[in-house]
Amino acid sequence: MTNSAPVGAAAPRMARDPADRRVTVIEVGTRDGLQIESTLVPTARKIEIVNAIIDSGVREIEVTSFVSPKAVPQLADAAEVLEGIRKRPDTYLMALVPNVKAADRAADTPLDGGLLLVSASETHNRKNLNRDIVASLAGMAATADRLRAARIDVMAAIAVAFGCPFEGDVPYAQVVAIARAYADLGVDHITLGDTTGMATPSNVRGLLRALKAALPQVEFVLHLHNTRGVGLANVLVGLEEGVRRFDACAGGLGGCPFAPGATGNICTEDLVYLLQESGWETGVDLERSIGVAMMMEETLGRRLVGQVMRAGPRLKLHAVDAVRTAQG
Ligand code: ZN
Repeated sequence: MTNSAPVGAAAPRMARDPADRRVTVIEVGTRDGLQIESTLVPTARKIEIVNAIIDSGVREIEVTSFVSPKAVPQLADAAEVLEGIRKRPDTYLMALVPNVKAADRAADTPLDGGLLLVSASETHNRKNLNRDIVASLAGMAATADRLRAARIDVMAAIAVAFGCPFEGDVPYAQVVAIARAYADLGVDHITLGDTTGMATPSNVRGLLRALKAALPQVEFVLHLHNTRGVGLANVLVGLEEGVRRFDACAGGLGGCPFAPGATGNICTEDLVYLLQESGWETGVDLERSIGVAMMMEETLGRRLVGQVMRAGPRLKLHAVDAVRTAQG
């Protein structure tokens, strides 16, 4: 398959030539980041942030979630935000759509892709979705049908795929079984969520190999958290294993309201920096990406953990006179 076969608005899923150096950075900050913030960000500000993300060159954005506004009031304005965004022709907007009710709310918005969600461990799934994995999967056909009827692409995510804070390691076979259930629903784009930062270079490689062997037709996306400081190391392993799509949060925002100890996602501008300095093409302007992180910081009124946003690009040189000379 070549890259000339568009699917949906922005051709998000493509088999790629090994010589193709393109990597897709998916911004998830307004969803995974803002869902756990105590600050309720005004709708107009969210729209401004998403527009700045688009202006930075990011084409795919997980904007929000259609979870119950009672459960996550921070994202109660999902439809209004989507409607307010200044989309470019190649912009592809995604949101979590965990059930039929959510799909009903998403149906009349400019959403391009809706993500189904299940956790790889029973305990996390019960905390997150209040039901067991089998019941969650059984409910998904109806959600997928509702999305497709609204001409929204159906995608899927698996939370705690690399380990669960309640149960520990999740057997690869369990993740493969869930991915297969998604594939049976016609889903060919599955995000592997490292919800609480339990992914390591070793289990990233192991799980990706198990999944690719079982489901070669599916494209896997990595959603990594940097909870234990190995987020970007896991990206490098993902690249080696053929992953070309990564979720990230501006400024390193993020977490999970239903998982103890969950901290930020890998940071968008740090990821862009790593990819560009390693010869990958992201289409993202690093300075503008740093600008988005600054906007997030200003919006939330606290310092974010991103590193490149502090240091700047490596060849952004400083005036010699601006730095004090050591005395002796
Ligand atoms: Zn996350």
